[in-house]
Amino acid sequence: MSTMPIDSDALRARYAQERAKRLRDDGNDQYVEPKGRFAHFLKDPYVTAAPRAPVHDEVTVAIIGGGFAGLTTGARLKQAGVHDVRIIEGGGDVGGAWYWNRYPGAMCDTAAMIYLPLLEETGYMPSQKYTLAPEIFAHAKRIATHFGLYDHALFSTEVTSLVWDEPSSRWIVSTNRGDTIRARFVSMGTGPLHRPKLPGVPGIESFAGHCFHTSRWDYDYTGGDASGAPLHELAGKRVGIVGTGATAVQCIPALGRDAKELYVFQRTPSSIDVRNNHAIDPDMFAALGPGWQSKWLTNFATLQTGRFAEEDLVKDGWTDISQRIRDRVIAEINSSGVGPDTLQRAYEASDDEKMSEIRARVDAIVRDPATAEALKPWYRQLCKRPCFHDEYLQTYNRPNVRLIDTSGKGVERIDATGVWAAGVHYDLDCLIFASGFEVGTEQARRSGFETVGRNGRTLSECWAEGMRSMHGIHVHGFPNLFIVSLTQAANLISNVTHNLVEAGTTIATVVAHALKTESVAVEVTEAAEQAWLQLFAGNTLSLLGAADCTPGYYNNEGRPIGPHETLNTSRYPEGPVAYFQFIDGWRRTGTFEGLEFRRHA
Ligand code: NDP
Repeated sequence: MSTMPIDSDALRARYAQERAKRLRDDGNDQYVEPKGRFAHFLKDPYVTAAPRAPVHDEVTVAIIGGGFAGLTTGARLKQAGVHDVRIIEGGGDVGGAWYWNRYPGAMCDTAAMIYLPLLEETGYMPSQKYTLAPEIFAHAKRIATHFGLYDHALFSTEVTSLVWDEPSSRWIVSTNRGDTIRARFVSMGTGPLHRPKLPGVPGIESFAGHCFHTSRWDYDYTGGDASGAPLHELAGKRVGIVGTGATAVQCIPALGRDAKELYVFQRTPSSIDVRNNHAIDPDMFAALGPGWQSKWLTNFATLQTGRFAEEDLVKDGWTDISQRIRDRVIAEINSSGVGPDTLQRAYEASDDEKMSEIRARVDAIVRDPATAEALKPWYRQLCKRPCFHDEYLQTYNRPNVRLIDTSGKGVERIDATGVWAAGVHYDLDCLIFASGFEVGTEQARRSGFETVGRNGRTLSECWAEGMRSMHGIHVHGFPNLFIVSLTQAANLISNVTHNLVEAGTTIATVVAHALKTESVAVEVTEAAEQAWLQLFAGNTLSLLGAADCTPGYYNNEGRPIGPHETLNTSRYPEGPVAYFQFIDGWRRTGTFEGLEFRRHA
């Protein structure tokens, strides 16, 4: 797109300058938790919980969380012949992130052919390369129906504590609906990005207009729906939105289309690459043979992590980024041989090229030069979640839409009538927080309950110095408990559900084996857990690190990265594909090395 030569040194200096502008001492503490006087930001706007009597019974497996983590684990358990499974979920239905996130324009950023789990098992063809949220939510419900996971499920029910009872070898699950459920096994799929956070700016509680977080979209107020119907109630309203991350990028086009006035308060612009969405060809889909989704998943993970495959089945922005870097490395090696910084130089050169294209795309689309300048991202593409959209930048050409750039400072203050930014007050009727979700806070805080294992030891105590696990799933001291997590496993963030399906398969295999062998408890040994953690000492593939990145949740808000953060973000050193191969082999051995199956309590 741009034919201008790239001055890499100047770029590096600009990146450092932009990072420095945004660094702050309070890191994660800059955000306000949705509790106390902010608890209403968590209220379910979609379903009112029906009264019911408390449940007091016993199940073989309790699954905490009904998102794709819980659903894929539940599906795999059913396939493994474990039928007595109960999902316990805070939302009014299954879906997790896709139950809560119904904001207009919400869609998957990863191609639906690989993002939607269990497509082959359910026989479903996604309508488009990237599907809208209602279709994804419907797919979550399809999985639940197909595998009988609605049976025994408890919705609008939040777990309040999880306690291991050693004498009976059962977990005691307590909830906010007065339930006490005894479970032989528990699988926790409480999600990595689900607890909304709010910008902790002075006066945030004083706004007298209408206000909500994007993950609790108030269609009663805005009108319209998640399928794209106009937000007709906003026709006479002045709307402000705080944040320009992946969520805001998706909902701003609808807000710009329908609000009388839209003010977008920006601290850091996202990088917006081409999306190029299109319908899935039914003939292509019909021709796919058995095992196709697994093949596509492996193909994507392979290319997205810089390895080689004969073809690019998914062909999207993610595989484009990594293939560019990979090809650049090869070109560097061919021209100058292998040196200590070959990889780094190649990465930076290909990123300079890509980000220059992304900035040139802003100029090509946005007509007002000052707005275009403010929308340009000055950091490396993988510093923040890369965004892909074909209507976002265009929205700023509308006369009713104004970008309020805060030059990295964020909004200053909120009062009864609106928002202050860069010394100017903006009068608003409605204020929407697209300020994201907690990352890096303690697990118990994010999940909303404490887990108490053997000898009364809590998971918070166990993880005080950082996460400890084997395979990201098994934790010593917590028998019969399984954690569905990306961390300390493949940590493939470009396709989250791939990680979840693998974890679910592992958990189901282990549970089925424990039942078959009549084991009362299965637990990772201390030595096996320790050996697994050794893999992450000096982990160079940590998601954090990049010192030339603007702050954000990918890099601990720019704060120092110690052993705690490294453990909480680590990835299998040889990468996701190697991890998936490893765990498949581990499952197939049937010996489950590292786990101890106890026959008697
Ligand atoms: P993010 O955390 O990515 O974005 C939050 C936004 O709020 C940022 O732009 C941040 O600015 C801004 N912000 C925070 N405080 C202030 C302030 N005081 N003043 C002004 N702006 C402020 O949250 P999202 O909800 O956008 O996305 C979260 C994640 O969810 C994504 O990264 C992605 O993983 C996932 N997601 C996936 C989607 C998909 O697959 N379809 C769609 C949407 C989200 P700054 O950058 O400066 O911190």
